[in-house]
Amino acid sequence: MKREAMFYEKLKDNKVHCFLCPHNCVIENGTFGKCGVRAHENGQLVTINYGEITSAALDPIEKKPLYYFKPHTQIFSVGSFGCNFTCGFCQNYTISQSVAKSQFVSKEDLVDTVLSMKDNIGIAFTYNEPSIWYEYVYDSAKLLKETSPDKAVVVVTNGYIQEEPLKKLLPYVDAMNIDLKSFNTIYYKDLCGGNLIPVLETIERAARACHVEITTLLVSGENDKLTEVEEIAKFLSNISPEIPLHLSRYFPRYKLENPPTDVELMKNAEKTAKKYLNKVSLGNI
Ligand code: SF4
Repeated sequence: MKREAMFYEKLKDNKVHCFLCPHNCVIENGTFGKCGVRAHENGQLVTINYGEITSAALDPIEKKPLYYFKPHTQIFSVGSFGCNFTCGFCQNYTISQSVAKSQFVSKEDLVDTVLSMKDNIGIAFTYNEPSIWYEYVYDSAKLLKETSPDKAVVVVTNGYIQEEPLKKLLPYVDAMNIDLKSFNTIYYKDLCGGNLIPVLETIERAARACHVEITTLLVSGENDKLTEVEEIAKFLSNISPEIPLHLSRYFPRYKLENPPTDVELMKNAEKTAKKYLNKVSLGNI
């Protein structure tokens, strides 16, 4: 469903400026921002994925991955389409990089579904990037918390969001898994189409407000040097050595054909990260 977006301003020369995420797109009339879901229509910024769900499942919380937030429970997980990154190795590119087939679900129906499910601890916004699904994520999270404060709200994100929208959302979020894809600005720019610094800022801000776990996909030949793993672990330990880090094994997907990450290297990366952090896990091995 299309509706007016939040976090934008009209500019003088018939353009609009979106400041939901650090791309800060300035958008001409009739065109979309980099995320492909926010468009300029005659002086108004609209979002086209409000309430549009492409994927839904009752998942184990460990699948998010969150290992230290309500372990051994299940959470109703939903996603839409679109992303503000263009990762060449995206696991969910069919929904993140195009306008995928979806079904509209109002925020009221979503909350009713969450509350009617047995053995469900709440809702997780995941699969595509929740930051650029902002209005629906915000409305639904707020409604769920107002209706049933004991239900959990989880956000699985690339962390590419500006401070103002993040701060507005955080009071309704219990836990986040944030991707820290690399500690290298060139990697972020060339492989993901983004910047490292705003992601680091999001991690710092989120860790002050809710439970946070971090995922780093170690892509063979790209970000799998132990020195880089060490930089990531050091950065996180400066916030708190209790932040869990998930080091995930890469497999070829979408545009990237590098071989799967070496398992011995993964084990060495785990050892390196454990010098700084108390909770390090390997995934996808
Ligand atoms: S949310 Fe989309 S339109 Fe807005 S700044 Fe980010 S990429 Fe651009």
